[in-house]
Amino acid sequence: MAYQALYRVWRSQRFDDLVGQEAITKTLKNAIQQKKTSHAYLFTGPRGTGKTSAAKIFAKAINCPNSVDGEPCNECEMCRSITEGRQEDVIEIDAASNNGVEEIRFIRDRANYAPTTAAYKVYIIDEVHMLSNGAFNALLKTLEEPKEHVIFILATTEPHKIPATIISRTQRFDFKRISVTAIVDRMRYILEQSDLTYEEQALQVIARAAEGGMRDALSILDQAISFSTETITLDDALAVTGSLTSEMMDAYLGACFEQNVSEALAVLENMLAEGKEARRLTEDLLLYCRDLLMYQQAPNLLANQTLVTEKFQQLAQGAKPNHLYQMIKILSETQNEIRFTNHANIYLEVATVKLASIGETPAMTKTADDQLPAAAQPVDNQTILELKNQISQLQQELQQLKTQPSAAPVSEPKKTVRKPTNSYRVPTERVYQVLADATKTNLREVQGIWEDLLLALSVTQRAMLKASEPKAASPKGLLIAFDYEIVCQRADQDAELKTSLENIISMMVKDYTPELVFITRESWPQLRRAFLSQHKEELDLGDETDDAEIELVPEENQIVEQAKSLFGDLVKVKED
Ligand SMILES: [Zn+2]
Repeated sequence: MAYQALYRVWRSQRFDDLVGQEAITKTLKNAIQQKKTSHAYLFTGPRGTGKTSAAKIFAKAINCPNSVDGEPCNECEMCRSITEGRQEDVIEIDAASNNGVEEIRFIRDRANYAPTTAAYKVYIIDEVHMLSNGAFNALLKTLEEPKEHVIFILATTEPHKIPATIISRTQRFDFKRISVTAIVDRMRYILEQSDLTYEEQALQVIARAAEGGMRDALSILDQAISFSTETITLDDALAVTGSLTSEMMDAYLGACFEQNVSEALAVLENMLAEGKEARRLTEDLLLYCRDLLMYQQAPNLLANQTLVTEKFQQLAQGAKPNHLYQMIKILSETQNEIRFTNHANIYLEVATVKLASIGETPAMTKTADDQLPAAAQPVDNQTILELKNQISQLQQELQQLKTQPSAAPVSEPKKTVRKPTNSYRVPTERVYQVLADATKTNLREVQGIWEDLLLALSVTQRAMLKASEPKAASPKGLLIAFDYEIVCQRADQDAELKTSLENIISMMVKDYTPELVFITRESWPQLRRAFLSQHKEELDLGDETDDAEIELVPEENQIVEQAKSLFGDLVKVKED
């Protein structure tokens, strides 16, 4: 017999076999038993959570002459014909490939006829959100005139794409992600029934990778079986899921805890080079940190389940819960940031710098050279409070600037950047010096070499510079804006980094040795506005200075040249 995929062989044939959706199956069984079924159902939920399986079991149970307690017998001709997909009164449609009006009209016409052999005609429309608007309208008309012996079951992973008019005519069931424990139990059962041996940890790894979908879990298990020699081992599971081997995770987080930025980045580079996907990696790291936390609270909970290595135990014993909470926060933020970006690796590198810098204060690290494994010092509440105040203050100022671009005089330059002493202090005066002499030519030259410059840096240095951008350049100064304050601060304290940058720039742009001025990206719009407002008269900008409307006197003097170099940037910001 040809090999059949596990998820086909072990597809649930009874409601009671459907794992993890007990509330739904109980309700459906009762409805069938008491003959109180609805004429339309909507099954929503993530992929592989049992929606179409439930639909087919439902079609069988409602038509099976031997149905007991709302379950099908799975043995009669009716049950078998539905299981094998040859029952003409149970029609399965994949809306992903049949999304047109014609198909739905056809269904509508056929729905008018009574079932031929079954008691109920059951239409199962999978991926129903893929239907075209016209098809939805046709479907709506069908649902508006329910027929006695016709039942529609609509299944979807994306209920928000379905018109409310349709949803309101259905009885809706939300299928949940299946828990890791439930998936593991099911796999264990299947393996034991199949006389296959396994390591418990392998099942954990597979269940986690499946992210709540039983079908995915069984597909991965299939791969692990064909990959393994006799027993399905942890290594087989790791190889198949692309999860990180625990040693690499141990090494990475170990380096982060020791605040060894370059080591952490080196391990990260290795993991990415091995083809680990950044999103998956972030997820794995998040789970690892969560496990550390859980292990601290209740070691027994994880005793047999997860990858409790010696290093894991060490880390769990050494890490402060606060430190772990911060790591989890950074990783969750990163997870959100990389969801829709093509530059996931960059965010992960920045996250690495952050992870390896938790609890550092400027006083502790004068330069990046002394990366001593200092004890982690969680940020105290006072600092968090100050930062919160500062953020809301900046948000207010930003809001003001947005609503009244020029009416409110921008405060004095020295006051524009109010920061508590332990965060990065933007060197306002030096910024203005650069802006005063800034030229577009200088900026263009630096922008032109920026990519190459990044490549010429070491791994650590590149990671710090990746989420940064040259904003303005004069013959004597270069303004670089960093996405993250913490990275900006580190870069500013890193003498070695500055020297490398200066050397590379002077090599790539002939005889150009600007003084480097670091700012946060957040502070840039305000700095620029303050500067422009200071030089308003010189620039002859008049009073009604909506940025995009600034008109420049076409004179080739220095200030105009410098304003031009800022001008393009202003317009760009407007568009954002
Ligand atoms: Zn039957």
